[in-house]
Amino acid sequence: MAAQDLSHSWDTYADVVVVGYGFAGGISAITAHDAGAKVLLIEKMPHPGGISILSGGGVAFARNAESAFTYLKRTCNGTTPDEVLRPLAQGMVEMIDWVKELAKVSGTEPAQSEVRGHGTYPFPGTNDIDSIKLKDFPAYDAFPWAKGLRGGARLFKMVVDNVALRTIEVALSTTAKSLVIGHDGEVLGVTAERSGKEIKIRSRKAVILCSGGFENSPAMKLQYFQAQPVYPVYLGNTGDGILMAQKAGAALWHMWHFHGGYGFKYPEFPFAIRHVWAGPRNEKRKMIWIAVDRFGKRFMNEYPPAPQDTGARPLELYDADLQDYPRIPCYLIFDEEGRKLGPLAMVIVNDERYHYKWSADNQVEIQKGWIKKAGSIDELATQINVDPQALAATAWRWNNQCSAGMDDDFHRPPGTMMALTHPPFYAMEAWPIVSNTQGGPAHDPQQRVVDPMGKPIARLYAAGDISSVFGHLYLEAGNITECFVGGRIAGKNAATETS
Ligand SMILES: Cc1cc2nc3c(=O)[nH]c(=O)nc-3n(C[C@H](O)[C@H](O)[C@H](O)COP(=O)(O)OP(=O)(O)OC[C@H]3O[C@@H](n4cnc5c(N)ncnc54)[C@H](O)[C@@H]3O)c2cc1C
Repeated sequence: MAAQDLSHSWDTYADVVVVGYGFAGGISAITAHDAGAKVLLIEKMPHPGGISILSGGGVAFARNAESAFTYLKRTCNGTTPDEVLRPLAQGMVEMIDWVKELAKVSGTEPAQSEVRGHGTYPFPGTNDIDSIKLKDFPAYDAFPWAKGLRGGARLFKMVVDNVALRTIEVALSTTAKSLVIGHDGEVLGVTAERSGKEIKIRSRKAVILCSGGFENSPAMKLQYFQAQPVYPVYLGNTGDGILMAQKAGAALWHMWHFHGGYGFKYPEFPFAIRHVWAGPRNEKRKMIWIAVDRFGKRFMNEYPPAPQDTGARPLELYDADLQDYPRIPCYLIFDEEGRKLGPLAMVIVNDERYHYKWSADNQVEIQKGWIKKAGSIDELATQINVDPQALAATAWRWNNQCSAGMDDDFHRPPGTMMALTHPPFYAMEAWPIVSNTQGGPAHDPQQRVVDPMGKPIARLYAAGDISSVFGHLYLEAGNITECFVGGRIAGKNAATETS
């Protein structure tokens, strides 16, 4: 039994306190438990899941650790030390077996049919990387408070089932507020708030921060992002753990880097809405629109290789002559043929206060005024306050490029191009949106949070989006793998700290 720390009064004790119950928190808790620790998992929201429960549930794996390392190194562009990338590369090789093991508890297994055959970008090592999802099983309805993608709900159910099997203690509606630090700088526990009351939780061995990123912290986004504003998908991640780690002396890495595309934002909801092309790119799938700036000109490949990775970047331009962002918002322009292709957006939200189903033919959203409608391109331009001649010239050029099957301007894949020829025409405002942030407190290969000199802060670990390794480009399905691999390393090491 550990000696109690008498210089503080504690309300409750655990060996390892895990902050945040998404994939990273769930896996850290499971692993710390299996390594013999008494774990307390705290979550600020009334329900667990974070962004994790909304996700596609794609899990990246590798056939060869050296190839995966080569690929990850190129993806991070020097922002993350090699020694930190190597354990992730090794963990990627072990992912399938491990997910199989965890999935047995939920009576399911990975679905081999979902395999794609490569990583996101054509970097060396890409052909040794792939991703899996879990087979369908009744999971979606298990979480009535969250409406996201089915794959994430399945994978999260697997994690919840494993936490429950181990009877790991979970405290919901419990918000970590600060770390309690001893005289020698080591982390002793967490101060949290529950039902308006402060509680002090002693961590005999360590604290693992798994509290996600800062996508819903306006103050942090203002400091770290070039584009303003950038709207979030999930509301619960407000950078709390990052601030706590900073106060304990943590170094920060690649705070600018976020995983996001462009999407929609309406006053009715405090979160952003993703369009239906937001997943991995399908070069044979028509995308109905072009994007134009406030001058009516195209400025980007609207369907980039990984729409949720770099899709927001072309909107970030700050024009020094204008002293403004001419692409925030930008406008998505499409025609009647495009409108008829099906719902163009899907609301995903982990918050029971806000549920909304986009209409199948987009008509409800036209009536709401979210989608502007006009009989001609000229009239549409007037509605969105863009020069009609400029917009007409853009549409004319685009239609010619569609006929030629070649986007000479921005290299959009031919199979995704769709002309603007059938009235009525439509326009929607689009904004940069952040799915999840990738920067946060730097960590070492053992997932220990480090200070600016590279020295670990004693008894403080981090896993998942709070401290993602992805510092320049993203590997699709890599964030969840990182939650699993980083969470496993953090959980094991935290559990083997001395009491
Ligand atoms: C639509 C969508 C699809 C995606 N699809 C994929 C995919 O297929 N594959 C992939 O790899 N990645 C995907 N991602 C990204 C991936 O979902 C995330 O990177 C990952 O789930 C993050 O997990 P996490 O545990 O770090 O954070 P989260 O799941 O966000 O969990 C963090 C938790 O911490 C809680 N918290 C925050 N502050 C506190 C506090 N002070 N005290 C207590 N708790 C706190 C939050 O409420 C939250 O529950 C997708 C993202 C989106 C938005």
